[in-house]
Amino acid sequence: MTYDVNDFDSLDVVNNDRDHVWHHLAQHKPFEKTGPMVIVKGEGMRVWDSKGNEYLDAVSGAVWTVNVGYGRTEIADAVRDQLVEMNYFAQTAGNVPAAKFSKKLIDKMPGMNRVYFSNSGSEANEKAFKIVRQIAHKKYGGKKTKILYRDRDYHGTTIATLSASGQYERRNQYGPFVPDFVEVPHCCEYRAQDDADKSDYGVWAANQIEKVILAEGADTIGALCLEPITAGGGVIEAPAGYWPRVQEICKQYDILLHIDEVVCGLGRTGTWFGYQHYGVKPDIVTMAKGVASGYAAISCTVTTEAVFEMFKEDEDPRMGYFRDISTFGGCTAGPAAALVNMEIIENENLLENASHQGEYLRGRLNDLKEKYPIIGDVRGKGLLVGIELVKDRSTREPVEEETVMAVAGHCMTNGVIIGRTNRSFKALNNTICLAPALISTKEDMDQLVAALDDAIADIASKM
Ligand code: PLP
Repeated sequence: MTYDVNDFDSLDVVNNDRDHVWHHLAQHKPFEKTGPMVIVKGEGMRVWDSKGNEYLDAVSGAVWTVNVGYGRTEIADAVRDQLVEMNYFAQTAGNVPAAKFSKKLIDKMPGMNRVYFSNSGSEANEKAFKIVRQIAHKKYGGKKTKILYRDRDYHGTTIATLSASGQYERRNQYGPFVPDFVEVPHCCEYRAQDDADKSDYGVWAANQIEKVILAEGADTIGALCLEPITAGGGVIEAPAGYWPRVQEICKQYDILLHIDEVVCGLGRTGTWFGYQHYGVKPDIVTMAKGVASGYAAISCTVTTEAVFEMFKEDEDPRMGYFRDISTFGGCTAGPAAALVNMEIIENENLLENASHQGEYLRGRLNDLKEKYPIIGDVRGKGLLVGIELVKDRSTREPVEEETVMAVAGHCMTNGVIIGRTNRSFKALNNTICLAPALISTKEDMDQLVAALDDAIADIASKM
């Protein structure tokens, strides 16, 4: 389809945006010359800007969110109908879409049973941290308040979730941080630590978590918070052996396992949730982005019944319930959109499609790797894909951030939006990130690969 830019005064919109909107993660200086890009229309896998340019969106709304694609009138209709019927009442009471969606969600998460609603990934993780802290006070006399997080994982933008994030360039400006968040090493085999046992790296990497636990004292640690596949930190899947050992360690030291499914949840990797690839049994799962594919703001902190039970009653009146609220959490557009979002994933077999198209995409990218030595590693699962760029394959020296930006810029000029890792303290800002919608077709993947081929050929020729 095409978009008629004359439908509105595009210049006015761009000027108003430039003059008054403070954009996220953006340097504003360049906008003075070019004006910001304003996205005005979406349909399927594609978006249009105010100048009428069409783009294939290979990161689902820039930040891996629009899992079922743009222009889903069935979700918009459900939200509209719900808002007319009943738009808001706090989650101190129930509502129809929240109850229906919770049942449908829990059916896909054997072992889990309670859904706590909020509005963003950061907020869902904050709730999880508060649950862990309250359990520490309730059950362990104020010990076990520490929460472990992993280098290169990201858990959000608030001060507490930044305190739990291993991406330093995103957080260093915002200290001091919340105490009792402790980092454990990453598990990126391509960037394995010098002293790592490469013959069994998964188990070795998990054992590094145990070392931190022992150093801190197991009786001080309440939870371990991990992304199932690190997304913005470089699309890092843990190697075989990692997850069974992680589960064992959590059990041995009585540590809750919190999996952050904000990116991987709702089909992104070809299963409903990323952890389900690895047979992991979490205590807490958080999710946001793909829950309603960006049609409404919704996030969830899902727990086992055992975790919930701990909040049911207590002699101490402060401890007999979870003393937390989120004004907009769960009311009502979010769960109404999320319910239809799940129905679409089911009815259109989007889990299978994500696996299938992801495999095809990685196959094509591995062909590009044969062609360009600058491609050091192609990795990922389903439609979450990373391409790590290096100056030299043998040393694995990362390319500069500018190189990755140049690839992204070139693709954009060719009508394809791709993502990249956030700049990290350790300069591992060299990974292209792809997360196209789960509705991707072979033709979409071919267009994406063609744009990458063209961009990398151009950049490699100048190196
Ligand atoms: N967790 C992960 C794994 C994320 O990638 C993000 C955001 O990118 C968040 C949490 C924070 O989500 P939000 O931006 O909705 O607060």
